[in-house]
Formats: sequence, structure tokens, C-alpha cells
Amino acid sequence: MNERDQLLEGLRRRCLDERVIAAVAEVPRELFVAPALQPFAYADRPLPIGGGQTISQPSLVARMCDLLELGDDDVVLDVGTGSGYHAALLARLSRHVYGVELDEGLAAQAARSLELAGIDNVTVVAGDGSAGVPAHAPFQAINVAATATGEVPAALERQLAIGGRLIAPVERGGGEHLLFVRRTPDGLQRTPLDAVRFVPLR
Ligand code: SAH
Repeated sequence: MNERDQLLEGLRRRCLDERVIAAVAEVPRELFVAPALQPFAYADRPLPIGGGQTISQPSLVARMCDLLELGDDDVVLDVGTGSGYHAALLARLSRHVYGVELDEGLAAQAARSLELAGIDNVTVVAGDGSAGVPAHAPFQAINVAATATGEVPAALERQLAIGGRLIAPVERGGGEHLLFVRRTPDGLQRTPLDAVRFVPLR
């Protein structure tokens, strides 16, 4: 079995939503990494994307997409868009994605890779994603790919629609884990999940 099929098989074993597995099957990860790394595009491991940043291993990207319970009509905010790969998967599972990336060079490259991949429902914005994108809020889902210290930036939680879901790595008490947040009519429910390692949110 080749690495790509192994990856998809692994996602099936973990019982991820079929739509998420289909998105991983359809999005060419090789378009989001440097040519020298293309032979490793389907290995289930993180890869460098320049500027000291990394793209997470595909199984973790898929798990985060799965947790967001995306629907075809959802508008999604992606903070720390980096290479654009995670945004590409989110885009296959929703109506539109606003991706915010602090590094202007990475933001421009992400926009080019998304275009090459034929994905036209992502708007990449260069800037500080911890402020969110108030002009397009509220979002049904928010994905954060860089670790916040202590808690998720308040502006992001504020931009979550009622019924909306947010997933973000958070560092607290020396440990780092994914935090899942859901906005219900009664307020925010926060649930700590898997231990993870991401680059810091700046
Ligand atoms: N989701 C990316 C992986 C990104 S790594 C992918 O699929 O490739 C985390 C990214 O967050 C880095 O590119 C880093 O530049 C960016 N980042 C860090 N702090 C940020 C901030 N405050 N606003 C926007 N992007 C930020």
C-alpha cells in the first residue's frame, strides 16, 4: 500500500467522518509543500513550510476538521493559514473560509497554492489572526493552528456564532492540548482534548 492509501486507511480506522476522509483524498498536499518535500507529502508527519513554521501531520489536520462538524453552508475562520493546506481541507467541507496568516510571504504562497489546487472559496488575509475578522463574523467554525498561552483570544470566541465550534491548541500549566469550544444559547462550553504541539501564536 502506498503512503497516501495508508494515510486514508488510518483515518478510516479512527472513524473520521467520510466527508473529511474524502477531502484528504481530494486535496493534493504536495502542492502545499516545497518541491524538495513533495516525496513526503503523504507521510503522516509534520513538514516545514518556511519561516520556521510547520504544517501539522495530516491525521491531526483531519482530526481537527472532523471536530469542527462542518456543514456545506458554514463560513469558517482559519487562523495561522501557513501553507494553506488546512484551509484547503476546511474549504472542501464548508461554503467559505477566511484564512489569516501573519507572515506576508506565507500568505501570498498559500493563496497561490490554493489557486493551483483549484480551490476558489478561500480568502487569504495577511495580518494578526488573533483579532479574527470582525467584518465577516460570526463564524460557524473557527480553526486555530498556532498555540495560544492560557486561553483562546477573546476576540475569536466572540466571533463564534450560536451553535458555532472552535478548535485551538492552548498552552496551560506547562502542557499543551487542543481546546474545543462550542457556543450554545447559554454560553461557551470549553472541553480540553488531545495533547499536541504547535508553533506559538504571535
Ligand atoms: N495551518 C497551517 C500550519 C500553520 S503553522 C498549514 O496548514 O500549513 C502556524 C502558522 O500560524 C504559521 O504560519 C504562523 O506564521 C502563523 N501565525 C502565528 N501567529 C499568528 C497570528 N497572530 N496571526 C496569524 N497567523 C499567525
